[in-house]
Amino acid sequence: MDEIILLKEGEMVLKGLNKRAFERRLISNVRKKLLPFGDFRVYCAQSTIYAEPRGTGFDIDAVTESLRRVFGIVSVTRAVACGKTKEEIASAAKTYLAESLAAAHTFKVESKRSDKSFPMTSIELSRYVGTELNNAFPHLKAEMRNPGLTVRLEVRDYAAYVHCGAAPGAGGLPVGTCGRAVSLLSGGIDSPLSTWMIARRGVEIVPLHFFSFPYTSELAKQKVIKLATILEPWCGRLTLQIIPFTEIQEEIHRSCPEEFFTLVMRRFMMRIADRIAEAYGCGAIVTGENLSQVASQTIEAIACTDACVSRPILRPLIGMDKLDIIAGARRIGTFDTSIEPYEDCCTVFTPRHPKTKPRPDELEAVEKVLDIDALVSRALSGIERVRIGNERE
Ligand code: ATP
Ligand code: MG
Repeated sequence: MDEIILLKEGEMVLKGLNKRAFERRLISNVRKKLLPFGDFRVYCAQSTIYAEPRGTGFDIDAVTESLRRVFGIVSVTRAVACGKTKEEIASAAKTYLAESLAAAHTFKVESKRSDKSFPMTSIELSRYVGTELNNAFPHLKAEMRNPGLTVRLEVRDYAAYVHCGAAPGAGGLPVGTCGRAVSLLSGGIDSPLSTWMIARRGVEIVPLHFFSFPYTSELAKQKVIKLATILEPWCGRLTLQIIPFTEIQEEIHRSCPEEFFTLVMRRFMMRIADRIAEAYGCGAIVTGENLSQVASQTIEAIACTDACVSRPILRPLIGMDKLDIIAGARRIGTFDTSIEPYEDCCTVFTPRHPKTKPRPDELEAVEKVLDIDALVSRALSGIERVRIGNERE
């Protein structure tokens, strides 16, 4: 039987004139996702994307799982397509769902008709197919309230489809429809989730990591590469930017009062992120900052980090509780990697009594002793780029 995958569009269905642009991007993202699996025909009708395998021998389970990581889709359904007569629909249901029907004790049939020229109402079709299935599987009892199996029928423009339920999709908007941002990715719990959340809003991600060798080890870098690899199925192919940060940290440590160390360091991170944003055409910078989590994330400290860049800094975790962040990180599969015990550059030279209520003018005064432009340029000249994801995309 010809299996097909139906992908329901999420909130983009509410878009106005630009809906077509969102759909085009979603189709292109779905095509890229399907490349490693083989040849598919991908098209769109009535706010649904259809992925139709050309040929046989596909691992449809793996394809379905993979499509659940494409932003812009709210549900992923494996279905069989058949002709639009009641007999063909009943026969498709009997054959395609034979195993599930044999295993179930109770069932019901639900129908939807977007082709209003179909000669039966949804209720009549459900009743007809229900009776046919009962004849073929006499052990089954019809049960409207809490059935063991719900057989779903959809009569659409080009064909009818039979299935037994959808798996939830990733939600959000298609990556690439809402611009591009540099996302600061440490090895911690927070920043993989903030990166994922902004990608889910349709933003293409350029991940950036600051690396403080030898204070942080090669294993810390591998951990960040691993985190980016976990994010790639959602974000699409990534180019991780790794910036050598040791010289800047040592210089701040040597020249600035200890209580300002973290703040000055964070301002360097933002300046470098801003330069990378410029080079990659990114409109924003993303961080995993979370209000009051640490001294550098008070309202005053955040004002000081914002003050040295022109692009908006997006902080999707700002008002979340740590427990919610952990639950989110577990859901997207980054938590176990994040808690591997390798040091991050933020734990190097941490002040004993960090300033919690700094002012931007105080920081400017403290930074006067540093040759900011030269430090930023030297760090940028040592950049390492690591490609993550399928080269064919
Ligand atoms: P995370 O916030 O990811 O758990 P963390 O708590 O160790 O890591 P913080 O000190 O809270 O990091 O830093 C706040 C944010 O700054 C991070 O969420 C991340 O976006 C960014 N950041 C921190 N360290 C780095 C780094 N080494 N490379 C890139 N970004 C970093
Ligand atoms: Mg944090």
